[in-house]
Amino acid sequence: MDSAATRSSQDTIAQFDKYVIPNYTRYPVSLVRGEGSHVWDAEGKRYLDFFPGWGCSILGHCPPKVVKAIQDQATKLIHLPNTWYIESQGEFAEMLCSRSFGKAFFCNSGAEANEGAIKLARLHGMKDNKNRYKIITFENGFHGRTLATTTATAQPKYHEGLGPLMAGFVYSPWGDLDAVANLIDHETAAILIEPIQGEGGVNVPADGYLAGLRKIADDNGCLLIFDEVQTGMARTGTWFGYQQWDVQPDILTMAKGLCAGVAAGAFICTDKLAPDLRPGMHASTFGGNPLAMAAGVATMKTIEEEGLLDNIGARAAQFRGRFEALAKELSIITQVRVRGMMIGVELSIASLPVVGKCMARGALVNATHGNVVRLLPAINITAKQVDEGCDIVAEVLREMADEAG
Ligand SMILES: *Cc1c(COP(=O)(O)O)cnc(C)c1O
Repeated sequence: MDSAATRSSQDTIAQFDKYVIPNYTRYPVSLVRGEGSHVWDAEGKRYLDFFPGWGCSILGHCPPKVVKAIQDQATKLIHLPNTWYIESQGEFAEMLCSRSFGKAFFCNSGAEANEGAIKLARLHGMKDNKNRYKIITFENGFHGRTLATTTATAQPKYHEGLGPLMAGFVYSPWGDLDAVANLIDHETAAILIEPIQGEGGVNVPADGYLAGLRKIADDNGCLLIFDEVQTGMARTGTWFGYQQWDVQPDILTMAKGLCAGVAAGAFICTDKLAPDLRPGMHASTFGGNPLAMAAGVATMKTIEEEGLLDNIGARAAQFRGRFEALAKELSIITQVRVRGMMIGVELSIASLPVVGKCMARGALVNATHGNVVRLLPAINITAKQVDEGCDIVAEVLREMADEAG
């Protein structure tokens, strides 16, 4: 048994079977300890993690400076409501906004960040009898699991059995500017899009697409909202994904890597929009709490002090090189998509079996959208770890290519 474990994986699984609602498909091990890009299960087996914390552990597991910041803050204050000024919240807001724009609101998750953004877009859109409430979102997008964000998520499989969904959402195909222009009318409040679709298969927009959406929004007097829950916080190699294309949204939502794995979400909006979120119209009890904010400050400091934005470019080139070489060798690889530490390897066959086969060999990866292997590695992953993990994924894909004939 691993030194950090208090019980075997089997015992934990038995406990879950009895007491935890079975709404997740879980891999049959309990993970008990992590360090950087490695995690250990209760039995002491080590895995190289190419998908740490579902993209939340942007600095890998237990980054020392973040751990220290959490420990220090926990001895001073763990929680405060937003009826008080909170030092670390102000500090984190300044760090975020001075590297992007506007003003920040803090909450606890990606769905909650998007909920807030949707409410702000409606509050703005309904002002002065404008009656703008509709939000345009995109097929294969993903925005969260609350009822509004599930509705915003234009994937029928997530809607089954939940009706009636929220009114006011309109779906556009991804990548088609004319389709968006045709959907917009005088009731449209905002266009909501992930700059790179994550759950939908790591879909990188064509050059000019986001700029085209910006123009359509401006021409029609509606807002542009970027859901950067996955692409934000250095994931793509710049602080935020929008900076890759130099197209600034009116509202930007974030969560996942924001505080290196401590639960937190946020949105920022332009200074002009900020007053539309009137006092009393929105709130979050845990939002911007001292513990999460201290972790966020330490996360940003670590990224800058350790020069990690530079590491992302080098490691991204390494991943691209490895998978493009493999694509030449294996016809089951149909496309390789890489933006910073956001990697999608599209297959001509189902990608789910890749996960179990990699796990058996000691590497953790994700499968999404049916046929895409998705990696969201820690941004401080080393060249050696990239090679080690890619060797395992390559071995598995070769074996699957053989089986597929
Ligand atoms: C994960 C994700 C969400 C939902 O975040 P939660 O914290 O699970 O609510 C929303 N949008 C995008 C783009 C995501 O990747």
